[in-house]
Amino acid sequence: MDSYRIVDVDCQCGQHLFEYAKGGRGRLIKCFLDQIRRDEISVVNAAVGAHPVCPSCGSEVGYVRMIYGRPALKLNQGTVQKVVT
Ligand SMILES: [Zn+2]
Repeated sequence: MDSYRIVDVDCQCGQHLFEYAKGGRGRLIKCFLDQIRRDEISVVNAAVGAHPVCPSCGSEVGYVRMIYGRPALKLNQGTVQKVVT
């Protein structure tokens, strides 16, 4: 049984982007859309290929692609603050 931790994902500018139910240990690289909560950038319903941006500074947060058959946000590590569990 996997355990999940709720982590905050924030932009480098300080804008809160969303919360994520992160499984496993290590650095947050990708976010499966169905594990995103408090979505403040409307990424949960984004289409594959979308490039959501921070509503405050306009930086690209990442892009949406299929990972293991599930839509996920691949984070742009230059935009989001580092999350390590
Ligand atoms: Zn920002």
